[in-house]
Amino acid sequence: MNAISPNPTQKYDLSFARWVRDNIDGGERMNMCMQCGVCSGSCPLSDQMDLGPRKIFQMVRAGMKEAVLKSNSFYQCVSCYNCVVRCPRQVPVKYILHGLGRLAVQEGYQPKSNVENARFADAFWWSVTTFGKTDERLVTAKYYFSGGLMNGIKLGLGNLKTALGMIKTKRMHLGAPHKAKNRGELKAILAKAVEIQARHEGEA
Ligand code: SF4
Ligand code: SF4
Repeated sequence: MNAISPNPTQKYDLSFARWVRDNIDGGERMNMCMQCGVCSGSCPLSDQMDLGPRKIFQMVRAGMKEAVLKSNSFYQCVSCYNCVVRCPRQVPVKYILHGLGRLAVQEGYQPKSNVENARFADAFWWSVTTFGKTDERLVTAKYYFSGGLMNGIKLGLGNLKTALGMIKTKRMHLGAPHKAKNRGELKAILAKAVEIQARHEGEA
């Protein structure tokens, strides 16, 4: 993805669609969308989204950058891939939505602290880079408390029964986190991946 997308001074930015096509993963197929609505109709979270995927694509085409990037839809997506497998025009809906969501955070349309997916991704990445594994207890705790102390306590208490049930049935262990062997090698691989991604973004 480019460092920065077009920054319009007018409300309708007609270069936005072109920018999405050239810089967002899967964006080159967005023009294949025929507005059938199968994606929105198949999405289990569409009633939580302020704009469904079909509407978002049409708004991108209309250059409504600001309205699109202020949408909450990107962060409701749970990556179930229903839209991807059902789209009759092979538009990679989910990938485009995630790219737009990332852009919205990157350009300040959505504060990262308000975006659940971004906060969860941070917690997940922390666990992988620290332990070489995802420790479901620590990832959950870090994610819960990333929204503030009271938010963490409230979410923790709300899920206490589930957590105790998982411990009882040995689906969640107690004690120190499991750690991968050769974490140094894993860290080197991850650092290389970050370097390659940064290089690609610089070339885009
Ligand atoms: S299912 Fe595909 S073609 Fe239909 S509205 Fe969604 S993206 Fe467009
Ligand atoms: S991948 Fe996301 S947008 Fe697509 S159907 Fe699933 S939840 Fe909805």
